[in-house]
Amino acid sequence: MRRVLVTGGGSGIGRAVAHAFADQGDHVTIAGRRLGALKETDGGRGMECRTADVADEASVKALFETPFDIVVANAGMGRAAPVAKTTLEMWNTTLNVTLTGVFLTFREALAGMKEGGRLVAIASVAGLNGAPNTAAYAAAKHGVMGLVKSLALEVAKRGITCNAVCPGWVDTPMADTAVTNVMKRFNVSRDEAEVRVFGDNPSGRIVKPEEVAASVLYLASEQAAMVNGHGLVISGGEA
Ligand code: NAP
Repeated sequence: MRRVLVTGGGSGIGRAVAHAFADQGDHVTIAGRRLGALKETDGGRGMECRTADVADEASVKALFETPFDIVVANAGMGRAAPVAKTTLEMWNTTLNVTLTGVFLTFREALAGMKEGGRLVAIASVAGLNGAPNTAAYAAAKHGVMGLVKSLALEVAKRGITCNAVCPGWVDTPMADTAVTNVMKRFNVSRDEAEVRVFGDNPSGRIVKPEEVAASVLYLASEQAAMVNGHGLVISGGEA
């Protein structure tokens, strides 16, 4: 049975990824700051629920007393603001969680990871392109892509792969927060806010968390042994 760790497993994409591995019969550990959310994800499936802050080195180290075969660095956050209104605290928090959190998670994962191991980061299309009001988040996600591409080259000879998925907007609490913020900021209805946030997706809808999870399963599979250092875009054409 493969041992899988999913950070940020208490909601959204992390929850869908955890369910997808559990449904395949893998042993799944989920980590996050809110134990109640992790237990909700588990829902009686027998997952191990671990409280951890991915921005805290000791907290991440403690997750790895036993090695994992597959590690999904999914935990991340971002707050919308133009650069002129991005405080140093917002910048540092975003980078600490969204970039340094992935670095710490992968570094600790590597110590005991065997041949065939899989590292998968949930990056974003914001890790490939810029957009207004997302500089800190986009910088962190671009950093994740740099980390993934470099680490892939370090671990390739060990038979380990390191890849990322790069979703566009996904139907999760993070996307819901973005819509709510636009509703408040511009005093518009939910429908209008959804058009402003997601309206330009060429596919006319946003991504489902299960669609991201399916790509993570692929990158974690034996069939993907020669996919390394890749960022798989799942966006319906959204750039
Ligand atoms: P979400 O529902 O807000 O999930 C974020 C998860 O990260 C939560 O479970 C949260 O759990 C965890 N987390 C946040 N800070 C943490 C910390 N310091 N330590 C440990 N866990 C932490 O949003 P989501 O959309 O599923 O996001 C998952 C990932 O996908 C993120 O990396 C995000 O950037 C990326 N992504 C999302 C979208 C989108 O449109 N939704 C698009 C592209 C990429 P706790 O609060 O319990 O710690």
